Amino acid sequence: MFDAECTLAPYACKSSETKGRLFKGDKTLGRSEFQRDRDRIIHSGAFRKLMYKTQVFIGHEGDLFRTRLTHSIEVAQIARASSRRLSLNEDLTEALCLAHDLGHTPFGHAGQTALNRCLKAMNPKSNGFEHNIQSLRIIDKLEKKYLGYDGLNLCFETREGVLKRCSRKIAPKFGAVADRFVFGGQPSLEAQISNIADEIAYNHHDLDDGLRSGLITIEEILGLKAAENAAKEVLSLRSPELMDKSRVNAEIIRRMVSSQIDDLVSQTKENVLSSAVTSLTDVRSSANQIVSFSPKAKENVRELKSFLMRRLYKNPKVRALTDAAEIVIEDLFSLFFNEDNSDDTDPIKHLRSVADKIAGLTDSSAVKLHKQFFPDKDLWQDPLF
Ligand code: MG
Repeated sequence: MFDAECTLAPYACKSSETKGRLFKGDKTLGRSEFQRDRDRIIHSGAFRKLMYKTQVFIGHEGDLFRTRLTHSIEVAQIARASSRRLSLNEDLTEALCLAHDLGHTPFGHAGQTALNRCLKAMNPKSNGFEHNIQSLRIIDKLEKKYLGYDGLNLCFETREGVLKRCSRKIAPKFGAVADRFVFGGQPSLEAQISNIADEIAYNHHDLDDGLRSGLITIEEILGLKAAENAAKEVLSLRSPELMDKSRVNAEIIRRMVSSQIDDLVSQTKENVLSSAVTSLTDVRSSANQIVSFSPKAKENVRELKSFLMRRLYKNPKVRALTDAAEIVIEDLFSLFFNEDNSDDTDPIKHLRSVADKIAGLTDSSAVKLHKQFFPDKDLWQDPLF
């Protein structure tokens, strides 16, 4: 047992009690199993590509907005802070956060929507495209850098947590890591934390990026219940720096994040007590999620999300980018589908290999390929931001 495990809660995941890896024999010295998983994720090709994939301000280059890489690091920060306060396994939490977006296509959800549509239109039996399943596919199969096996050969607990969503129909093909989608139950608390940390991270960095893009204003944010306390605290400080708008905005958003983490930690502690969870088995067989916000914070998060949907994600300038992104993915799909001369005679396997190629592109490589093969369609002519 690693020393640090002595300090973990009885219901935390313990590296020394992992359900193991698909391929046995990988031994390590000086690192716990979950530290090792995190390190393998950091050294993967899919992780490096996150730097060139964006979410809201797609196809945008420069240092103004978040990329999926900086997003994943922010998620890991929020989740680790929460995990430590709950005496959960920080290494597993971090590994899950750093891997959670590996399976995204270029252009975020717009790319996924378009690719899913293309696959289903070509063959309704293809199961379409879903980024969580693709993340598992990357860590289990597509990374090819170890002798003796494909994939990163990660622990069961990491693979289980990466598969955040899955339909009941296709879950059986993933084996035990997808059991909860067939039989009910929950993943580890570390996985539950990484899911909510993802939400906390994107809600707040989208506010921040939205402010800097000029698409939303601080006055609008101050009208949100989630911002009420943070705004009061900051604006009551009699600091000459209150004249510095960007500093004030950052301070308000920082405090919003902190208060959500505080709420999450205290509500989760209450949930642990009220549901009498004393082991990882209890966590897995629990009917409900243990990690959650308080009812009041849930309400505030709902309001914040609907604000972002209305004012940012559905903004005509953002929509123009996502519409263009969908066309790029559709065009590249037809290009790859017709060009792909793999030996696959199985049409479903052929479709999946086309999907892997598209999902493996970054925003910039997809735009570059599109310009090369579809020079007449100039989709990115106006710099929107
Ligand atoms: Mg994410």
